[in-house]
Amino acid sequence: MYDIAVVGGGLVGAAFALDLARQNTIVKIILIERNQPDFSHNEQGYDNKIYALSPKNYQHIQAMTSLLDEKRVGVIEAMDVRGNHGGKIEFDQHDCRGNYLAKIVEYRNLHQAVYRELSNHDNVEFKFTSLAKIENGAEQVSLYDTDGSKLDARWLIAADGANSFVRQQIGFDLKEIPYYQSGVVANFRCEHDHHNIARQWFLGEGILAYLPLPNQQISIVWSSNEPDALLQLSADELCSVVAEAGQYSLGKLELITSAQAFPLKLNLIEKFYSERVILIGDAAHTIHPLAGQGVNLGFGDAWELALLLAKNANNLSIAELARYNYNRLAEVRKMQMTCHMLHRLFHNRLPVVDKLRNLGLNLINQISPLKKVLINSAINY
Ligand SMILES: Cc1cc2nc3c(=O)[nH]c(=O)nc-3n(C[C@H](O)[C@H](O)[C@H](O)COP(=O)(O)OP(=O)(O)OC[C@H]3O[C@@H](n4cnc5c(N)ncnc54)[C@H](O)[C@@H]3O)c2cc1C
Repeated sequence: MYDIAVVGGGLVGAAFALDLARQNTIVKIILIERNQPDFSHNEQGYDNKIYALSPKNYQHIQAMTSLLDEKRVGVIEAMDVRGNHGGKIEFDQHDCRGNYLAKIVEYRNLHQAVYRELSNHDNVEFKFTSLAKIENGAEQVSLYDTDGSKLDARWLIAADGANSFVRQQIGFDLKEIPYYQSGVVANFRCEHDHHNIARQWFLGEGILAYLPLPNQQISIVWSSNEPDALLQLSADELCSVVAEAGQYSLGKLELITSAQAFPLKLNLIEKFYSERVILIGDAAHTIHPLAGQGVNLGFGDAWELALLLAKNANNLSIAELARYNYNRLAEVRKMQMTCHMLHRLFHNRLPVVDKLRNLGLNLINQISPLKKVLINSAINY
């Protein structure tokens, strides 16, 4: 019997397994992932799936592994956020406690570093398979895969993403709110230096972010109501549309990694555990990407749960689990609701709301203490 079965070896599941394996070298862990990762593309250009990691999470990753290729990591030293009618708010490292606001890391770079580090731990096994059934009991959980084999574990940690199979099998109570938008991502080389400034435009029809990568490159996340219209553009057309929407702030753009779209929704769950199954990452909660907080919240779950299980995988009490749930729910809801309200506010086309939100941005920009509170609560967890 395994102590811990982690289902889903994306960033959150793999990072959780690594954090736990480092802290407790006796606990027996199996990581079950449906797709065998292929790291052969890593040298071919930049991944269009990128993440803005908070300083705290980036430092946690650095403490767990030295295998991240830091030459490929971008840094955000300042932010420039614009409303659609003259509203503006600017942040830089003087507004926060650290010396940068976030690091921009490619999915592949981070995923590879965590997997390579995990393979150095004798107490971690990998299994690449799809699950067919789960039986959740008071003492253990049984996992059956599609070829009929079975394994048992004391705890199942589900990190299998926003459409979690485990969550559906167990029947967790979920409220799902679609945004009727997709996040369109792509990478570009820019004519002018970005100076490590992240830029964001609340456009009315959507939200566009330019995130700085090394070598005068950027990655964009465009939360759009009409993602297909963007995906159907030729490379040259997409460059023009993205440069124009970004007010040519970085001059002309050249596409270096093609566009891809991810549907956006808000998933709300109150209780992240049921008997022997605990949900983490996107399996437990999703969030609008306008503040780049999804994987940051997932890492928050991973670090706190790994600490708890490293101390006590055999006899974790219901009271400890309930406290874990309380802590994580408070953190997650605060961020989910902040992003949801911002999305609603900037999606509203009433002229009076339009004026107010742009005024609001300018007001926050002028009140230095409020700006500091906002930025520190966004990046410091
Ligand atoms: C456009 C966009 C931009 C974003 N930008 C940011 C950002 O800048 N910063 C940030 O913090 N977050 C960002 N996010 C959010 C971030 O992508 C997610 O929060 C994060 O990927 C969640 O990681 P995860 O490991 O929980 O889930 P996933 O990344 O979905 O991984 C789930 C894993 O489980 C596996 N799996 C699924 N089903 C099974 C099964 N039945 N059996 C076994 N394995 C299974 C999958 O193959 C996958 O490997 C963004 C999201 C979008 C859509």
